Formats: sequence, C-alpha cells, structure tokens
Amino acid sequence: MGKRMMVVAETKDGKLRQVSLEALHAAYTLKEEGDEIIAVLPGHGLDAPARELAGHVEGRVITLDHPDLKTYSAEAYYLAFSRLLDEDQPDLVLLGHTAVGRDLAPQLAARLDAGQISDVTALEITDEGALFTRPLFAGKAFEKKRLTGSRGVVTLRPNNLPPAGPVASPAEIVPAGDTVSGTPLQTVIRDIVRKTTGKVDLTEAKVVVSGGRGVKSADGFKPLEELAEVLQGAVGASRGACDAGYCDYALQIGQTGKVVTPELYIACGISGAIQHLAGMSQSRIIIAINKDPEAPIFKIADYGIVGDLFEVVPLLTREFKQTLS
Ligand code: FAD
Repeated sequence: MGKRMMVVAETKDGKLRQVSLEALHAAYTLKEEGDEIIAVLPGHGLDAPARELAGHVEGRVITLDHPDLKTYSAEAYYLAFSRLLDEDQPDLVLLGHTAVGRDLAPQLAARLDAGQISDVTALEITDEGALFTRPLFAGKAFEKKRLTGSRGVVTLRPNNLPPAGPVASPAEIVPAGDTVSGTPLQTVIRDIVRKTTGKVDLTEAKVVVSGGRGVKSADGFKPLEELAEVLQGAVGASRGACDAGYCDYALQIGQTGKVVTPELYIACGISGAIQHLAGMSQSRIIIAINKDPEAPIFKIADYGIVGDLFEVVPLLTREFKQTLS
C-alpha cells in the first residue's frame, strides 16, 4: 500500500492561500505509484476556497468547517485535527511555513509521533528518498535533511515552490464531522485587530519594495508605496525604519520580522545588516538602491543602483508605469 500524504491548506480573508497550492505541488513531487493525497481545509465558510482547492487536487478535499476555526487558535485547531489524524493516519503532512503552519506543525508531529522538518525551500528525490533543503544561520548556509522514520511533518516556505496546477477532474469535497463542539475551549478568539491593511500580503507578494532608515520619515515611504502599487507588490521595511517610527512593525522583514521570498525585492535605503538579510536573501532578484557604494546590501544584490532613493525610486515608478501600461 502506498503512502498517505495530507496537505493542510489555509485561507486568508476567505481566500485560499497560494502557499497551500505550493504545498500541494510538493505532495505531487513526492508522490509515488499508489500514494494518496488528501487536502484538508480548516476554517469557517469554506465553500469558495474548498472549490478552488478541489480544482487542484486529485483525490479528496476534507473541510473542517466550524465557527471556532474561523481564526487560527492552537487549541481549537489541535482539537479539530486530532480526530482526523487518528482516523486518517497520514504518513506525511505538508503545510505552509506561515504563522499558522509554524504553530500547528509541531502539534501535528507530536500527535503523530512524527519527525518534523521546518522552513523547507527546496526538495529533491534521491536514491535515499526525499531530501529537504532548509536555511541555517539566518540564511548563511543550507542543510539537506531527510526523514528517517515512517512519518513526517514538513513546512514549506512560501514562494519557493511552484503552485500545483489545475487537475482534469476536481476532487470530491468531504466535510469532516464536528470535532470541536462538545469540548469547552479554554480560550476563544473574539476579534482580530489589524495593524495594517496592506493590499498585498507581504509574505506572499511577488514584488516587495522595502524601505530602511534611509527613507528618513514616514512620508519617505510614499514613493516606495507608489512603486509597489505600480508593480502590484507590497511594502516592507528594515527594523531600522520600524525602530525610527517611520512605519509599523508589521512591515519588518528579517530575523525578528517576516521572511519573504518574492520574485523581485527592491531594497531602498537599507544597509544590509545580516539580520535583515535573514528575511529576504532568498528573493529571486534583488535590487538595492543606496547612496553608499560600500553598503553591504550590494554584496547580495543582483542589481545595485548607487544613488539617492528619492531620485531613483520615482524614476523607476515612472519607467515601470510606462512599460506596464
Ligand atoms: P541603517 O543601517 O542605518 O542603513 C541605512 C542605509 O540607508 C545606509 O546604508 C545609507 O547609506 C542609506 N541611505 C541613507 N539615505 C539614503 C538615500 N537618500 N538614498 C539611498 N540610500 C540612503 N534588522 C532588520 O531589518 N530586520 C530584523 O528582523 C532585525 N532583527 C534584529 C535582531 C537582533 C537581535 C538585532 C541585534 C538586530 C536586528 N536588526 C534587524 C537590526 C539590524 O542589525 C540593523 O540595525 C537594521 O537592519 C538597520 O536598518 P537599516 O538598514 O534601515 O538602517
């Protein structure tokens, strides 16, 4: 009998997250003859995202739909997944390395008594089995790991694998029984108060325009926001800019902020401290704009522009606007 792989999908603002399709792609890459793929979608009001997910799955989509699962809570999600794991006994569980995935994965691994590999950026099939690549020391090195036991839980860094494409016949959507009601929860999330209302999710954005202390003020972010809008990207920041009060900490990228891997990262007025690089060095193409030609950011940049960001960024915005219109 083949392996059973379970992909735990996620929604954000009622929409399926792109990283869920990337996790599905990983499952298809690892799939061998006789293996089964199950996608599980937890949340509330899941009709639309479940249909979208089913369009990419050859097998089954299980929905865990309950009001207490609308917003992630470790307790409610653990309850919801426990029975499912006990019944389905997956050999491998794949999740996005998101805030939810990072919290949920070790709980699932403990429940399954499985090994766990986190923050995977690449995978390959070898004679020894699947090898998972993950960064070490804030992205300064990489290690390749494999699961030695019969069970594993793996989280995948967003934007590193391609998303799974559509399938010819969508999967059947099977609602799971209610595993949440009946067990009183110790904590319940009543409301989420958003600090920012960014149009594009920073961790999934294909383009990130980031500002550092060099933007000099909150107003200094405006040209960056305009460039991000033209490129349909998101705005990020260094901790230097956050500490200076130029922007919200929700934008911070780096070791103690968000990790992003966009196709294009434009660093404006950021020196390139190791702690910042930890959050963006895996971006596909990095453009650095800095008036100091010795700034360390140029060492990892694919393209470097030595100049004043307040001159260079509006020029880029104008050029991209013309090219893309
Ligand atoms: P600076 O280092 O001050 O650089 C500003 C740059 O702007 C300079 O290179 C300057 O030449 C350039 N500049 C100035 N004016 C202009 C202009 N008009 N046009 C173009 N360029 C201009 N940092 C993070 O970013 N993320 C983290 O998660 C993070 N975590 C940390 C965790 C720990 C434990 C510690 C100790 C530090 C952490 N830091 C983090 C802080 C990090 O070490 C740096 O202090 C920070 O990244 C510096 O931010 P910056 O590059 O914006 O500022």
